[in-house]
Amino acid sequence: MTGSRTFTMIKPEAVAAGHAGKIIDMLIENGFRIKALKLTRLSRQEAGTFYEVHKERPFYGELVEYMASGPIIAAILEKSNAVEDFRKLIGATDPMEAAEGTIRKRFAESKAKNAVHGSDSDDNAGIEANFFFSGRERF
Ligand code: GDP
Repeated sequence: MTGSRTFTMIKPEAVAAGHAGKIIDMLIENGFRIKALKLTRLSRQEAGTFYEVHKERPFYGELVEYMASGPIIAAILEKSNAVEDFRKLIGATDPMEAAEGTIRKRFAESKAKNAVHGSDSDDNAGIEANFFFSGRERF
C-alpha cells in the first residue's frame, strides 16, 4: 500500500527526555509507516536554513538555537493524506491548545519546545525530506 508522505522531527527536548520511543510508537499506532529514520543534530546554520521561512518572526533566533541544542530524530512517514493527518495527530503548536490524545498535548513542554515538527504542505514535506535524506536512506 502506498500513500502520500510527510516529514517529521522529534525535537531536542523530547529526545533528551526519552520520549522518542513512545512518540514513534504513537505514530505507527496511528497508521503512519516509517520510510526513513535517523538520529542526527542540526548545526545552527542548518537550523537557520531549515526554518528560513520564519526568518522575519520574532522568535526565529530562539527557534534556531533550540533546534540546534541537541540531537533530533528525523523521519519520513507515509500514509494516505499524510500531511493533514499528521498535523492532526501532533496537535496545535501550543500544547495548552492541543487536543487530548495528540502528541503535543502529551509530550510538549511549551509552545517553543513542542516535541515534534510536522510538514505543513506536500511541497514542504518534499523539501524537508530532501534536506535530511539521500535516496538510499529511503524505503
Ligand atoms: P507548527 O507548524 O505548529 O510547528 O508552528 P509554526 O510553523 O507556527 O512555528 C514553527 C515552530 O516555531 C514551532 O513548532 C515552535 O517550535 C516554534 N515557535 C512557534 N511559536 C513560537 C513562539 O512564540 N516562541 C518561540 N520561542 N518559538 C515558537
